[in-house]
Amino acid sequence: MSTEEDSSEPSIVVSHSCARRMRGGHPWGFRGEIRKRRGHPRPGDVCAAVDERGRFQCWAFYSPLPLISLRAVSYDREAPPDDALWIQRIHQAAELRRRLVPADTTAMRVVYSEADGLPGLIADRYGEILVVQLLNQGIEQLRPLLTQALVDVWAPAGILARNDQKVRELEGLEQSVEVLHGQVPDEVEVLENGLRFVVEPRVGQKTGAYLDQRETRLAARDYARGRVLDAFTYQGWFAINMAGGAREVIALDGSAPALAVLERNLALNGLTNVTPTQANAFDWLKAAADQEERFDTVLLDPPAFCKNKHSIESGMRGYKEVNLRAMKLLQPGGILITSSCSYHLTEERFLDVLIQAASDSRRTLQILDRRGQGRDHPRLLGHPESYYLKTFILRVL
Ligand code: SAH
Repeated sequence: MSTEEDSSEPSIVVSHSCARRMRGGHPWGFRGEIRKRRGHPRPGDVCAAVDERGRFQCWAFYSPLPLISLRAVSYDREAPPDDALWIQRIHQAAELRRRLVPADTTAMRVVYSEADGLPGLIADRYGEILVVQLLNQGIEQLRPLLTQALVDVWAPAGILARNDQKVRELEGLEQSVEVLHGQVPDEVEVLENGLRFVVEPRVGQKTGAYLDQRETRLAARDYARGRVLDAFTYQGWFAINMAGGAREVIALDGSAPALAVLERNLALNGLTNVTPTQANAFDWLKAAADQEERFDTVLLDPPAFCKNKHSIESGMRGYKEVNLRAMKLLQPGGILITSSCSYHLTEERFLDVLIQAASDSRRTLQILDRRGQGRDHPRLLGHPESYYLKTFILRVL
């Protein structure tokens, strides 16, 4: 790799295979695929990515440090991205949510990174406030403009930046949690599918909640009946969505602070048939299966077990174990709603894991539904990494 003296706009020459991938709609260029840098690009600059013959591929955010050094933002050579484009993208993203998210839901993702044409910007709405993450150099430089655009579109009482993310360090950015606009309380109350939840934007997991499962939580209501297990419940959002159709729900999580918020969510919704249970899910599921406990509905929503390419095998063993135990716990006719949020585990491989789990637990299952993240977390065509959340709804014969 070399840097050439050149007075023109900065551009980055990428390898043949990178250019081909980008033409297929994949938005990333990896550090090792950069062949030359022209015109002294600085971290966060929008550069033209060109192939080795000099043919324009896309405009992209440039970050020299991380593995993902280029993130495509637009494909029109004659129209280098300007402020108007970023503002338009915030508006376009808002338009989708206003169209799709029902009035009885005030918690939703309003900007989802590459899939909304704003790589590295996450913005989640929790009622009156927004919680954002700015995850690369390019998007960081646009912070004032993006903050103003979000204020114009959503009129929030406050915007909090949850920039306490490791990926920022890889980008050479500091980690911090700070208020970018207005006032942000330590907790807010939101509605999801008409139910009430407490959210702690400063300390909650992710930006406060797992918004990607909203539509599946609604779907889960259809299946919840009898004795329900919600394993990896966090603050009980699935359990509370399913409690209406269930006789009782056991809501299991390893985190005591998460279960403390769950208790408050139960009170807010006037529910008395949900039992918060603090335990390691692996141990609890094994003990319950050994004791031949039975459930009518089991929900599994574990954290990502395959965190990177190297942990796919060990992660698959984790998924297999929890799914095998869950299958054993189900009565005939019982329903298993099982998710994987590991983007390193493809849907096909997740299905393989479920097939093995069914075989080892000697159960025959039907697939009733196959789902992904909600529509406020759109997936970018040509970017498989954005298809991270997979859910199967199965019935034991
Ligand atoms: N279903 C939740 C999101 C779950 S996130 C929702 O809809 O909001 C994953 C949860 O698993 C986290 O709350 C984490 O505390 C919990 N967890 C991770 N490992 C665990 C383990 N071994 N046993 C029990 N809980 C675990």
